[in-house]
Amino acid sequence: MNDDLIGYLIATDSIDEFLGYEPKCPNCNSKMIEIIYGMPDSTTMEKAKKGELFLGGCMIEDENPKYHCNKCRRSYFDDLKKYINEPNNWE
Ligand SMILES: [Zn+2]
Repeated sequence: MNDDLIGYLIATDSIDEFLGYEPKCPNCNSKMIEIIYGMPDSTTMEKAKKGELFLGGCMIEDENPKYHCNKCRRSYFDDLKKYINEPNNWE
């Protein structure tokens, strides 16, 4: 890693993603899973069943939630302030 790359990641707000940042639920503090949109393939389906990721469906809106908390059944938007209630995929 060089400084240019780090500077670029910070400037584009992608440093968290680069470092494998895993957001925690603001409500219960447990690790949240990523929400995947579009048609899932078989690998994605398997992971969703295991609760490793959350299927957001094919509808792509202007703003979609990004992370899902399995415990609270909430799907959080990028800023982790707004959320919607959604049942888990496997229930
Ligand atoms: Zn939670």
